Amino acid sequence: MTTKPIIPLVPESPVPAAVSPRRLPPNGKKFFIWTMGCQMNEADSQKVAAMLQEVGYEKATSEEDADIVVLNSCVVRQAAEDKVAGRLDSLARLKRQKPEMPLVLTGCMVTRQQEKLKQRFPHVDLFFNPSDFGKLVEVVPELEELDDDLDQLPHYYQPQLTGNKAGISAFVPIIYGCNFVCSYCIVPYRRGKETSRPFKDIVTEVERLVDNGVREVTLLGQTVNAYGHDLEEKTSLAHLMEAVNNVKGLDRLRFLTSHPKYMGDDIIHAIRDLDTACEHMNLPVQAGDNEVLRRMRRTYTRDLWMERIAYTREQIPGVTVATDIIVGFPGETDEQFQQTYDMLEQTECDKVHLAMYSPRPGTLSARWEDDIPHEEKYRRHRELEKLQERLQTEINDRRLGDTYEVLVESKQRGRWTGRTRGNTLVHFDDERDLTGKLVDVEITKTSPWFLMGRAVGNPS
Ligand code: SF4
Repeated sequence: MTTKPIIPLVPESPVPAAVSPRRLPPNGKKFFIWTMGCQMNEADSQKVAAMLQEVGYEKATSEEDADIVVLNSCVVRQAAEDKVAGRLDSLARLKRQKPEMPLVLTGCMVTRQQEKLKQRFPHVDLFFNPSDFGKLVEVVPELEELDDDLDQLPHYYQPQLTGNKAGISAFVPIIYGCNFVCSYCIVPYRRGKETSRPFKDIVTEVERLVDNGVREVTLLGQTVNAYGHDLEEKTSLAHLMEAVNNVKGLDRLRFLTSHPKYMGDDIIHAIRDLDTACEHMNLPVQAGDNEVLRRMRRTYTRDLWMERIAYTREQIPGVTVATDIIVGFPGETDEQFQQTYDMLEQTECDKVHLAMYSPRPGTLSARWEDDIPHEEKYRRHRELEKLQERLQTEINDRRLGDTYEVLVESKQRGRWTGRTRGNTLVHFDDERDLTGKLVDVEITKTSPWFLMGRAVGNPS
């Protein structure tokens, strides 16, 4: 089972939908977008694709085949930044062969260091900050046609190019940046302070998405549950969820990524009370020891996180829970690691995203000694992997014989694949075309990572 919804950028089959006409007819040109990193970047890439498509571009299968190439970069780890740099270097040759092809770099690598990047990668035609979509007009003049209503253009490919999950589920960024300063994280330095999008724009975007056949929406932000605090007219994620829930035709509503400190009762009640809100809580904790949490500058204690999970479970029976953990943070002792182990064993999460600590230059913790040897980090990572495998085996075994509503995303290796409202991956066989359908599936087989079953009842 995995909790991270992935929208493929190269979808497989079209989804019938109310397609809005393109602004300009096909112009024979093609775009290629390469994306690294989080769902925010995926959403931005989808918006760029939607913009280009609106003015007549089509998707290319490779950089060589494209008339414009956009790289959307991630810097969350040094390895990710190195990978983007490597890709940019390798594109220099293509750029020499096709000097007229605009090469564009966006994403977290760009922020606050454009001058440095211009010197290092002189073959790049345009650098633009995450979500600063208006800049693209500098290399795609046709986009002037869209200037007035860029904000209204959904963050996803139009259905004629999408299909599969991309036409069924969509990411909608609602807040950019982060006001926290976790000692290991580069995001606040690159994405800046929290900036919420206007309430009305988000609801309008969801309406447009639903009009175009989208059934599931995931509201996105680095600290998504901080939404609205910075707006002149103060509002909240819970209010926004209520408004989005009222969009006629929407079936499912999710949100990512939450900070424990902002996980108020109002949001938990919204999950409990709103028809479309999926019974799933993704609440990163990062460590189970208070001293490690303090050095991580997470601003909460293990008890607060555990209390929020316990309250969510009390209010929403059957809710699934996911979290994130970093092992091997500087100075993490065996006892402190054991605290994390015990907390996870006690909490029984449905899914844990595990990471081994690595210092990120420019952050506070990078100035401290990275004193846990790699082998020890790996051992702790394995310990938690084994723990989760055991727990997820037990959790999923209890699901045998139950029936879940599954939103079908795609057919992979001859099998339908989709997710429950709790975000559990389900595979099943069926002769019918079920892409984008809600299907009740009775679970006939389980594994720690996914469920298998058979369709019962009529798809909708
Ligand atoms: Fe980074 Fe912490 Fe903000 Fe998350 S909450 S984006 S880890 S600074």
